[in-house]
Amino acid sequence: MNDTVALVTGAARGIGLATANLFHAEGKRVVMLDRDGEELANAAATLPGALAIICDVSIPQQVAQAVAEVEQTCGRLDILVNNAGVADFGPLAETDFARWRRVMETNLDGVFLMSQACLPHLSVRGGAIINIASISGLRASTLRIAYGTSKAAVIHLTKQQAAELGEFGIRANCVCPGPVGTKLALAVHSPEIRAAYHDAIPLNRYGTEREIADVICFLASDRASYVTGQVVASDGGFDATGVGLPALRGSS
Ligand code: NAD
Repeated sequence: MNDTVALVTGAARGIGLATANLFHAEGKRVVMLDRDGEELANAAATLPGALAIICDVSIPQQVAQAVAEVEQTCGRLDILVNNAGVADFGPLAETDFARWRRVMETNLDGVFLMSQACLPHLSVRGGAIINIASISGLRASTLRIAYGTSKAAVIHLTKQQAAELGEFGIRANCVCPGPVGTKLALAVHSPEIRAAYHDAIPLNRYGTEREIADVICFLASDRASYVTGQVVASDGGFDATGVGLPALRGSS
């Protein structure tokens, strides 16, 4: 194990767990943070040496406690992956303020709070922040009034971080995953949405957790040492395209 410490939020399952797995395989010390204690304990048991911390990223006191525990236990922090997120698809008329806040408090407030709390530890030796947004933050669609807006804000927050933190040697980048068949996506992707994604994606399929984790770990690595303020869509080409894909498929 090398001495690099990587903290991943929402690490109990899905993209966060795949990212924790990959950091672990690279020999990094992994800190896994999630609000779901049971699932977190099961996931952490598969990664020897991982530090698991139960924490809700939307609650400032819990965030402060969690980051203090990282400092006490690991003595350093090099990489922060703000991955914890919730999805709630609904139209504007049915999104009451409580529903809007539930999405914003994890997807946007959580990224802000975690980054701010980790900053003093990251700034000691530079480091990397990777924020997980979504293609829903790049292109608007139906039912994503709260989710899409929260993710668009994460994209801009990343650029603000890059602008402000570069002088401390801290890089900040954003990954926008396309659809991945995780618990989060399965809860909101109806068969119609699933079919529409297949039609709209040049690679004609969902991505895997590992394909997103690979991009995250690249941006966290020294191989991306001159990359900051960037938004990388790992989306099978979704963001690049417009109308006409299904009609053209097979004809070229
Ligand atoms: P997931 O539901 O499988 O995992 C999310 C994890 O985050 C869960 O373990 C959950 O307990 C944790 N979490 C949620 N709110 C939290 C909070 N307030 N504090 C601490 N932990 C919290 O979801 P996933 O698909 O792996 O999503 C990971 C990230 O990727 C999210 O930010 C999501 O918006 C984004 N994303 C996912 C997809 C997709 O299709 N799966 C597409 C685009 C973007």
